[in-house]
Amino acid sequence: MLADKDRIFRNLYGFHDSGLDGARRRGAWDGTKFFIDKGHDWIINEVKASGLRGRGGAGFPTGLKWSFMPKNDPRPSYLVVNADESEPGSCKDREILRHDPHLLIEGILLASFSMRAHSCYIYFRGEYIRERERFQRAVDEAYGAKLIGRGNVHGWDLDIIVHHGGGAYICGEETALIESIEGKKGQPRLKPPFPAGCGLYGAPTTVNNVESIAVVPDILRRGASWFGSLGKPNNTGTKLFQISGHVERPCVVEEEMGIPLKELLEKHAGGVRGGWNNLLAVIPGGSSVPCITADVCDEMTMDFDALSKAKSGLGTAAIIVMDKSTDIIKAISRISYFYKHESCGQCTPCREGCGWMWRVMERMVKGDARKAEIDLLFDVSKQVEGHTICALGDAAAWPVQGLIRNFRGVMEDRIDQRQKALKEAAE
Ligand code: SF4
Repeated sequence: MLADKDRIFRNLYGFHDSGLDGARRRGAWDGTKFFIDKGHDWIINEVKASGLRGRGGAGFPTGLKWSFMPKNDPRPSYLVVNADESEPGSCKDREILRHDPHLLIEGILLASFSMRAHSCYIYFRGEYIRERERFQRAVDEAYGAKLIGRGNVHGWDLDIIVHHGGGAYICGEETALIESIEGKKGQPRLKPPFPAGCGLYGAPTTVNNVESIAVVPDILRRGASWFGSLGKPNNTGTKLFQISGHVERPCVVEEEMGIPLKELLEKHAGGVRGGWNNLLAVIPGGSSVPCITADVCDEMTMDFDALSKAKSGLGTAAIIVMDKSTDIIKAISRISYFYKHESCGQCTPCREGCGWMWRVMERMVKGDARKAEIDLLFDVSKQVEGHTICALGDAAAWPVQGLIRNFRGVMEDRIDQRQKALKEAAE
């Protein structure tokens, strides 16, 4: 279990002052100028050495991403912070935004400096109104104390522009987010070019998740080796886990990467409702990743590599727990509806495939289908996966694939029962 001294987010639950004075008492803004004086590359190298992988879902190494930004480009560089947090199950970034906003602002300054950016845009999920207000207050405090802005005490001019989205899931995709900031319809762009070459307003841009940026000041203060010593090789550091569903005490908690799932649920969430043996399945990384069954959960550790080996994913580490009372087909069908609803409609496999999968899933819920259609459904999900502009197509396909891989028997039983009921009714 993570020791208290190793926690980065010491006001995760909002028990203390989230303003500048409180943040300073917890160590924020300590030594920031010292790190800036060490230079752009020093910061990038420290973040690389820490092994930090992006906390927004894809798990791409953060320092490496920063190093893709051009060094001698006449265009301005931009940092964009993704606070869209729309993945069902995810609710970690909002705790940072409302309770520890200064860690994020300090991280923004350090990350912007390392990438030679003087402007940072932060894009808020449409529903995060209070979070945006709280964050804006913290930004105003930072401007007032000359921690950011023109001629600030750190010697690197930085403006932070708070942008409020309209509430579309797809705007969490980095290029759709950029389009939305530019005032256009939030639709993903074809890549390449990648944002580091041509992003916001056609200039070099890096888009990072809130948590990825907010942990940077502590990595620099305590050292890359400290961060690297936590967790597992290639899956280092601490992570905010969000536990929801059929547990006794749903919560957001900071823990070491690679913590066993069972320990995480039992120590922090009071265990599965009705006991561990009542567990049916877990969606370990937000609604877009395939579910894993109870027997896999027994030995599972919560990190990128272990979960991808189990054909699932860590995603945003939003753990949705389902006990045996769950109608798993209905649960996945509801997720299919979500992705169908949020598809931006640009690519045919996603626009048509998401709706098709949802309609077939609705029939599967009732058992009103033929068994051969299970294979057809899997096949269509494979035609959506990897054949679209952005990852929403994959996000829609994976839950269905996870259901078929793990619960085909349940789906077939449902069809048998329906057939039997129809036969009896006819007789
Ligand atoms: Fe839009 Fe779906 Fe294509 Fe993404 S995959 S660009 S959401 S249609």
